[in-house]
Amino acid sequence: MLAATRELGSERVAIADALDRVLAADLQAAGDVPPFPSSAMDGYAVKDGPAGQELTVVGESRAGAPSDLQLEDRQAIRISTGAAVPPGATAVIPQERVEVRDGTIRTEAEVSPGDHVRPAGEVVGSGMTVLVSGTTIGPAELGAAVAAGAGDLLVAGRPRVQILCTGDELRAPGEPLRPGEIHNSNGPMLTGLAAHCGASAAPAALLPDDRASTEAGLEAALQAADVVIVSGGVSVGPHDHVKPALAKLDVREVFWGVALQPGKPTWFGTREHKLVFGLPGNPVSAAVTFALFAAPALWALQGRAERTLDRRAVLGAAVPRNPRREQALRVRLEDRDGTTVAIPNGPQGSHVITSLLGADALAMIPAGEGTLEAGTRVVLTRLPR
Ligand code: AMP
Ligand code: MG
Repeated sequence: MLAATRELGSERVAIADALDRVLAADLQAAGDVPPFPSSAMDGYAVKDGPAGQELTVVGESRAGAPSDLQLEDRQAIRISTGAAVPPGATAVIPQERVEVRDGTIRTEAEVSPGDHVRPAGEVVGSGMTVLVSGTTIGPAELGAAVAAGAGDLLVAGRPRVQILCTGDELRAPGEPLRPGEIHNSNGPMLTGLAAHCGASAAPAALLPDDRASTEAGLEAALQAADVVIVSGGVSVGPHDHVKPALAKLDVREVFWGVALQPGKPTWFGTREHKLVFGLPGNPVSAAVTFALFAAPALWALQGRAERTLDRRAVLGAAVPRNPRREQALRVRLEDRDGTTVAIPNGPQGSHVITSLLGADALAMIPAGEGTLEAGTRVVLTRLPR
């Protein structure tokens, strides 16, 4: 699946629009951080020397308003935190360490070269790499980029995602239900998951269970989006029209069917560089297969350096294994004496959407006979949220 995924192009966006985007090139500092030697304390800029010196205060350097005086012997310049250390000064003595008299100070401590001075470039030197390509821009990254002089950032394009929900039984959120109908809960859920993976997701479209509508809906989505995610209709029932419709539209099947519970009928294919996911309709299956398949693809399209399998934990309860399929168990994570414990989050049926509420991760239970005992180490996959 990842081999079929090509990174999208990049675009330059203002800092104000860069949150949650993925950096598309290494970012180098445009200048030194800090840009000039600056004071770490409120006090006096002085020349280093022993305690007990009498110095005349000849000026002041404030944050944003440096002093242009050249400091001479037996002189001090009042200085604030963050203000430029004036030429000739070699250190700062904090105000708590001086005795102030009329226009003069007496130093009450020895002053060594560099005391309480932040040299230019101490945090980041001009030209040094501050952020690497593939980093997701969070608040800290925004701060570091701006400190390093950036006014805009080159970021990966956002994948355009169209969610298509198939099923004659589906009604829009809040609509009254007639007999046999249910609400389309996958639409908003999958759109939200896609948005949390950095995609620009259009509102989910509803498709009835007939061949012509399925084909027309899929073709429109393939025209408009980079990634098409279909919910339902990929199984083997008489009203599952997605697979034949995709074949008709020349979407090449890469795989259908995975040894996973929930998520067995998951389908993936491509048409040129467009990616198509067929996810099972059961809400938990849809969320789980989104996390395991669609999310990594959306990250890869943005060149995001994100690992899916990122932690381990020990099982908090015994879990019956499935002889033929790996299970993705919704778990809550708790810390017990420094060990991360994965606790199954209630009943695990693929229709039990409430098992996703408060779930922190998927614990992967390898296929096999018998029971995986409490205390067994398991690999976790994080859930995009
Ligand atoms: P399907 O994969 O189409 O066979 O659907 C499997 C189950 O998931 C059925 O019980 C459907 O009613 C249910 N389902 C399908 N699509 C949705 C949806 N968008 N929202 C909620 N449940 C759905
Ligand atoms: Mg269906």
